Amino acid sequence: MHDIVIRNAEVIDGTGKPANRSDVAVDEGRIAEVGDLSRSSAKHVIDAKGWAVAPGFIDMHSHADFSLPIWPTADSMLHQGITTAVVGQCGLSPAPLLDETRAEVVAALSGFFGEFVKDVPWHEWSSIGDYLNFLTRQGISPNVLQLVGQGVIRASVMGLGEGRADQGQMATMKDQVVAAMAQGAIGLSTGLIYPPGSFTATEELIELTQTVGECNGYYFSHIRGEGDTLLESVDEAIRIGREAGTSVQISHFKAARKDNWDKSPKALQLIEKAQSEGLDVTADVYPYLAGSTSLVTMLPQWAHVGGPKEILKRLADPAARSKMSTDMQTGGFARGIEWSSVLITSSPNRTEYEGRYVSDLANQAGKPAYDWVFDALLKTQLDMGMAVFGMSEENRRREIQFPSMMICTDGFGLATTGPMARGVPHPRNYGAFPRVLGRYVRDLQVLTLEEAVYKMTGLPAQKLRLKDRGLIRPGFTADLVVFDPAAVSDRATYDNPHRYAAGISHVLVNGQFVIRDGSHTGTKPGAALRI
Ligand SMILES: [Zn+2]
Repeated sequence: MHDIVIRNAEVIDGTGKPANRSDVAVDEGRIAEVGDLSRSSAKHVIDAKGWAVAPGFIDMHSHADFSLPIWPTADSMLHQGITTAVVGQCGLSPAPLLDETRAEVVAALSGFFGEFVKDVPWHEWSSIGDYLNFLTRQGISPNVLQLVGQGVIRASVMGLGEGRADQGQMATMKDQVVAAMAQGAIGLSTGLIYPPGSFTATEELIELTQTVGECNGYYFSHIRGEGDTLLESVDEAIRIGREAGTSVQISHFKAARKDNWDKSPKALQLIEKAQSEGLDVTADVYPYLAGSTSLVTMLPQWAHVGGPKEILKRLADPAARSKMSTDMQTGGFARGIEWSSVLITSSPNRTEYEGRYVSDLANQAGKPAYDWVFDALLKTQLDMGMAVFGMSEENRRREIQFPSMMICTDGFGLATTGPMARGVPHPRNYGAFPRVLGRYVRDLQVLTLEEAVYKMTGLPAQKLRLKDRGLIRPGFTADLVVFDPAAVSDRATYDNPHRYAAGISHVLVNGQFVIRDGSHTGTKPGAALRI
């Protein structure tokens, strides 16, 4: 008698091989048998005729480490079939927090993520180890793999300013990396458009990442530029991996803004060239044409020096405003921005801005867009999120097809009720994985179902050296998704994002039902995984 048998499913095993009609049995959290199990009985039988069963999806880029302490069931992730997420991305992780600078770093993280993280129980941890223990004590629905954020380490040791690390600071930062990795982090992440990552020289990153390499860890990067400087930025990430001796993951790959669209295939070629040299360089992507981050990211780098308090002072100073608007037009994240492509996704202090475009809001207020943005950032104390429409559909298809491209949400674990249902967040939070399976596999036939599942399971598991996940194979951990290939689809839209995906019936994490018959069971069998 098995614990669970899934009968008559199209088994998509995560290797990319063609699906094969079979049964899958689960005992004590592991896949026990795959084959004709028509004679076996089980405590729970799922008749999956017409449906597919695949390994649980691995989200290569998630910020759920900031939502799991508040909302451990991470409903928007599980409803997509995500059973494991790599968190601690873009240089941002909830730890380490050092006694001397703890308040400043928490304020900076809260400033970045906004009201959303106000319920994070920061007092529960200081180190990555404490944080992961907190998650374990509390229980979580998905598995996580934690990165430690370079931005957080640098802010803790050097503050939010510019400048090169001296020897003592470098040594302290390396100690923090070694400690985080000893306590369960799998590597280092950078967010090189966000201060203080953006103030960090390549040489400093190489030196810090060498410590990661010595611990056999990974380097994940939100690279320094995804528009005008995409190619130089991909080169920098590859150089860091080469010189530090680490595996590299280029996060949420994109070529932003129309005049940079021709750079996407060139950037993919750079990745291929690095691979042909024997370097482990891969990337991940979400299947949407808009990016999303905090609105304050639009400001020039110099305006971020010193953190949120200093930013607010500059926003109130006419001379600084004038210099900011000039600089934003000539370079950086905002260069060439069309304000009609910038959608306000969250603004808890001024909810009337949510779901509207900056051009409309500025028109209505009767002021130039730059002035509206500066005033709005002041009024909301920087707490505004945005989505920016800037990517090409043709590129997206090629990027999703790219052999070493994996899939990510770049999202949080949200829910359609409760505190996580606020604002109009980017639909990728709810729909990234089903959108690949529905739109890009079934509707557009950009890739086969088996290829897509491989990019969501076997490929990332291999990259992450997860020895018993990512495939449907006897002995492997039973992270499984049962879905209907004819019906799977994203339902979240930019206007109405808080909607779970369709067509995903059952999701098992470590052998337990977290989604059963399309509903979250409330179970929290997830774990902080180590490698
Ligand atoms: Zn990022």
